[in-house]
Order: sequence, then structure tokens, then C-alpha cells
Amino acid sequence: MTVLENTIKIVLRGAAAGYEAEHTARIFFPAAELAKTLPGETEDLVLAVAHSRLDLVLVRRGGAVQWRVARPPRSAAAKEREFALCRLLYGLLREVTGIRPPWGMMTGVRPVRIIHDMRAAGAGEPAIREHFLSHFDCTPGRYAMSVQIADLQRPVLAAAEPMDCSVYAGIPFCPSRCSYCSFVSRTVGDCSTRALVEPYVECLCRELDATRATAQRCGLNVKTLYIGGGTPTSLSADQLRRLMACMAENFTLSRIKEFTVEAGRPDCTSEEKLRILKEYGATRISINPQTFSDEVLRNIGRRHTAADILDCYRTARRVGHTNINMDLIAGLPGDTVEGFRRSLETAISLDPENITVHTLTLKRASNLVVEHRAAEYDDVAAMVELSHELLSAAGYQPYYLYRQKGTLQNLENVGWCKPGYACLYNIYIMEEVHTILSAGAGGSTKLVTPGARHGKIERIFNYKYPAEYIDRFDTVLARKEGVKQFYEQCSRTD
Ligand code: SF4
Repeated sequence: MTVLENTIKIVLRGAAAGYEAEHTARIFFPAAELAKTLPGETEDLVLAVAHSRLDLVLVRRGGAVQWRVARPPRSAAAKEREFALCRLLYGLLREVTGIRPPWGMMTGVRPVRIIHDMRAAGAGEPAIREHFLSHFDCTPGRYAMSVQIADLQRPVLAAAEPMDCSVYAGIPFCPSRCSYCSFVSRTVGDCSTRALVEPYVECLCRELDATRATAQRCGLNVKTLYIGGGTPTSLSADQLRRLMACMAENFTLSRIKEFTVEAGRPDCTSEEKLRILKEYGATRISINPQTFSDEVLRNIGRRHTAADILDCYRTARRVGHTNINMDLIAGLPGDTVEGFRRSLETAISLDPENITVHTLTLKRASNLVVEHRAAEYDDVAAMVELSHELLSAAGYQPYYLYRQKGTLQNLENVGWCKPGYACLYNIYIMEEVHTILSAGAGGSTKLVTPGARHGKIERIFNYKYPAEYIDRFDTVLARKEGVKQFYEQCSRTD
């Protein structure tokens, strides 16, 4: 059982006790609050202090206090100093909580990238293994999975051309709000939001026209397209048709390697909409159950049942979709390890090409955290282990992986695919191999220096909310100039 200790405070003192120390504490206490002042004597806390001569870490829970001290090496560089303090804190928290985090004290988002980078720098497998197992205290299982993913990604990354890019279009609307969601998505059932959808689609199509023109001017080759959200199928059939037609007109689909649309939720995904996606060239869709338990669906604020998901999936197959992803979430409120097993088994029995297993992430903007509901979760680590076991046994391979802050037990999100069905867009975006041109509210265009490993990355942000995106649309279009300037600069510094 994971118990969310919402009341514990994290207190940090000294330059080396910063961001990394906070995140080390959050591996064990994801919902803890960062406190500026020392809490009262009876309050629970995690304290990390870095003084010039002494590091101190301390945990007080239920009146019991445990601590450790260490003398930092005098000549240590700032990074080493920070790592030494985090290591001390991690060791204490492992002991106090009895939790053995599968990723050890690794706090980064992209573990697989460490392998690509170390390989590129000439490191052999023993050195990489040592780095994962000793330096970060990862389990051998997580290391092995990271290597498996790196190996699967290698040919995809090797085939990437310097002027490749992908295009993303965002639909920030949903039929209702899920309790764990922190995304800016608006509920289309609200009258004020419904009125925004039509002008939003008009602006988005205009922005996609401008995106195509920008890509052409910069000499970029669009490799993959992705319509995400929110829930793209929350648009009406007519709006969805216009958006899909706009994508098809702007980007030569015969040259596109992959075109994903998140059909997302069955409560707004009709047969007509699934046919439109197929007709206008989507090659991969997502139908995301999150769980196949009706009770858990209710707990998270979904207005559909597991049977609706099954119907939607069968309809998608019937109208000709041959590459379908299904998302599941481990750790949803009210779910159990056995319940999660049933969800996994149901998803596997449907035989989709991709299954993505997320671990619940507690975002401060979500209703789950805001309302402090559901402070107890069944054993989420056991759920994630189960997903590895069942999906591997069913012939799925892990092909991409990322971690987020605030994820229960610092666990991961993993995309699994049948052989030959790895989603290219997910690999490209995670490994930052090429530019992603984003259109729509909340979108962020990520510009990557062509052909350079860890070259410059710049971002151009769109307005976050649909209303401001529509109202200030001229500025959205004007910002496309930034893409051109980025590539001009890159060609000057070649
Ligand atoms: S469907 Fe996705 S984006 Fe929409 S409310 Fe639920 S979690 Fe958020």
C-alpha cells in the first residue's frame, strides 16, 4: 500500500540542498509540501542541510526522529556536492520508509537517453551497467528494460535525417474532466466552452497552413503527424473532417511515415468519426481505457463504461484501423493489483498493436491533489511489475519510456508495441532527435539543431488557453517567424 503523506514538509538549507534534494525526497513522498520555514515540533518533516563542513539529513514522522550526517569532500565540485547530499538523503529515506524505488535515486525524465549518450561517448556496456546499478541504485530489471528500449530505438534514431521534423496539432477539449488531469483541457459540455470550439478549429487550420509554409521555407521534411489533446474526437464530426482535410491538404501523406490521432475516449468517438480518421489518412489511433473497471472509471470522473471502450475498439477495427494504441494507468484511485491485472488482461486479449502503461502522476493542478482525495493507493509498484510480466509474455516489447515528477513511487510510463509497431513520433519527441512544430493552444514548438547530438534546443510557446489563443491569434502566426530565424542561425553556425 502506498500512503500519500500530504502533510509531510520538505525543508532544505544550503546551496547544495536544492532542486535535486527536493526531488530525492519526493521519490518517497510525492505529495509533500516544500516549506520555507521550519515546521512546528510535532509536524512531520524531511530536512536536508548542506553546510560547508557538514551534511545533515533528518526525517521526523509521528514523533520519531532519524538522521544521518556526513562530511562532504572539501574540494568537491557543486554537482558532486549535491549528489553526495542526495545520496545521504536517499539512503536514509530508503531505510525509514522501507521503500526500494525501482529507479533508485535517478530523478531524470529520460533514462534511455543516458544509454544512448554513454554509448555515443564510447562507454562499454559494463560501464553503463555500473552507472545505473551503483551510481543511481537502479534495479537490474529497470536497467535491462532501458537497454532493451535503447536497442530497439537505435535503428530509428540512426535513420533520422537532419532536416526531418514532425507536426503536432492540439485539441484542448474533452467531454468531461478526469480527476487526475492537470492539462488545460476544457469540458465541451460547458456552454461557454462549446462556443469556443468552432473558432478554435478555424484558427487551428489556419495555423496548420502557416506551419506547412514555415516548414517549406526552412527546408524541413515532415516525417510524422500527431493530433493529440485533450480529446480530438470531442470535436463534432464536421469539425473533425475539416481538421483532417486540412492536415491531408497541407502535408503530403504519401511521404508521411506515421499519422496518429488520439481518439481517446469512447464517450465522444462515434463510428462516423472513426471512419473520418481512416478516410483522411490516420495510420495509428489511440483508444484509451485507462482501466476496464467501471468503478474506477467512475472514481476518475469518466462518464462511460468499460463496455463502451470494447464497442469503440471493435468499431475501430471494423472500419479498418490496423494500428491501435490503448493507454492504461497503474495506481488509479480505488484500483487494486488484481483489478489492474484484469484491465491488462482485457487490453491484451483485444490484441492492439500498442499498449502504453502510465503510472499515476499527482499534479498539483489535478482534482485528485487539490481535493486531497484518495490518500491511499494499492501497491502501484506491483501493478507496474505485473505490466512488465504480462506484456512481455504476450509478445509486446517496450519501445519508449519516460518519467515525470510526482509519479507514484517515482515509477515510469512505458510504451509497449508488437514487433514492427513502435510509434516513431513518441521516440522522436522523447529522444529530441528533431524539431516538433506544434499548432494549437498549449502547444510548444521544440526546435532542435539539425544533425547535432545535444545541440541547441529552443522553444516557442503558444497561448495556453483556447480563448487567448483565438483572441491573440495574430501573435501566434507572427511567432512562426522564430522558426525561420532558428534555422537561419543554425545554417550560419554550420
Ligand atoms: S481525457 Fe485526458 S486530457 Fe481529457 S480530461 Fe481526461 S486526462 Fe485530461
